[in-house]
Amino acid sequence: MSASRKGAEAPPRPDASSGPRAVLTVDLGKIASNYRLLEAKLSGARMGCVVKADAYGLGLSAVAPALAACGCRDFFVAGAEEGMALRRLLGDARIYVLNGPSADSLPEFARYDLIPVMNDLGQIEAVAEFARANWALPVAIHIDTGMSRLGLPPDEVDVLAAAPGRLAGMTLACVISHLACADEPGNPKNAEQLQAFNAARARLPKSMASMANSSGVFLGPQYHLDLVRAGGALYGLQPMQSGPNPLAQVLRLEAPILQVRDVDSPMTVGYGAGFRVAKRGRIATVPVGYADGYLRSLGNRGSAYLGGIRIPVVGRVSMDLITLDVSDVPAALAHPGALVELVGDTHSVDDLADEAGTIGHDILTGFGPRIVRRYLGGSGNAGGA
Ligand SMILES: *Cc1c(COP(=O)(O)O)cnc(C)c1O
Repeated sequence: MSASRKGAEAPPRPDASSGPRAVLTVDLGKIASNYRLLEAKLSGARMGCVVKADAYGLGLSAVAPALAACGCRDFFVAGAEEGMALRRLLGDARIYVLNGPSADSLPEFARYDLIPVMNDLGQIEAVAEFARANWALPVAIHIDTGMSRLGLPPDEVDVLAAAPGRLAGMTLACVISHLACADEPGNPKNAEQLQAFNAARARLPKSMASMANSSGVFLGPQYHLDLVRAGGALYGLQPMQSGPNPLAQVLRLEAPILQVRDVDSPMTVGYGAGFRVAKRGRIATVPVGYADGYLRSLGNRGSAYLGGIRIPVVGRVSMDLITLDVSDVPAALAHPGALVELVGDTHSVDDLADEAGTIGHDILTGFGPRIVRRYLGGSGNAGGA
């Protein structure tokens, strides 16, 4: 199909024309509508977007400009290298680096205009030393209010509150904290954390405050403060543990059938003879496996769809392949080349995550580099139609 196959000088293109491959279609227009749905829930607070881990596996270079086009100016990433990649895409965004700086990475923070989120007194001291020798940096502080993961614990907040000079040379842009149970609106831990956060930040120099992740947006306005940090909900993940998902599904994962075979009892399918065929039927083999992020725990548990009919994963997930029971699908539909829906409108990322025994974030960030990314909507520089 591709003329480039003949030309020795043409580099191989990461395109479906290079053979039967799984394709992940990301609808940037749906991400934008999720952004607007979340923004409409805020009164006064600003929308901040979390684009760590390559925008949750969906592709930073396509997703970040689409969010900027929605009006977003505040972005959160995990590490400095992610911040540098984002700065190359967005000239005027505020980029917060959640994991904070190491002393030797501070010149990169300055050069790429990244805002370090300082998580302990040691990081604060390193930034202060850098600010003395160089120039004033905008900074953020993370306060641990019950997550016990990142941020200043209460005794370090005490030290800082008693000696605000430790922040000399810095402009405190934002104080943040993170909720442990935001997807459970009835959990009393939410209000405890909010109260602890409000008490702690009242003792620090005045700045913006941020506490809500995607789920926190749905906990009510007292959690929104000045800036929210929405990640998963932008990408269509269910923000609350129960109830309907108000967000649009933004992606579809499809893969072509490589081969269809007839099977009958007492045959077995896959490694470890992990599935025993009980009656006459047909098995379709599809090129996606655990190396692509189709989790091994989906063996004998996952579902895909073909022609609107559920086709269960049978046998173990291999590194590069899965086997699906297509016995219920008319033979005219289940043939080599036919596209199977692994994630889509009938089967959301959260549905697949439930089958795998994990959460949607884990599925999204796991999609591997062999899966071709296609984009719908957006500004055009993202590729796709
Ligand atoms: C990842 C992360 C978020 C975004 O969380 P979602 O649940 O995906 O919205 C917000 N804040 C911090 C500190 C994070 O690490």
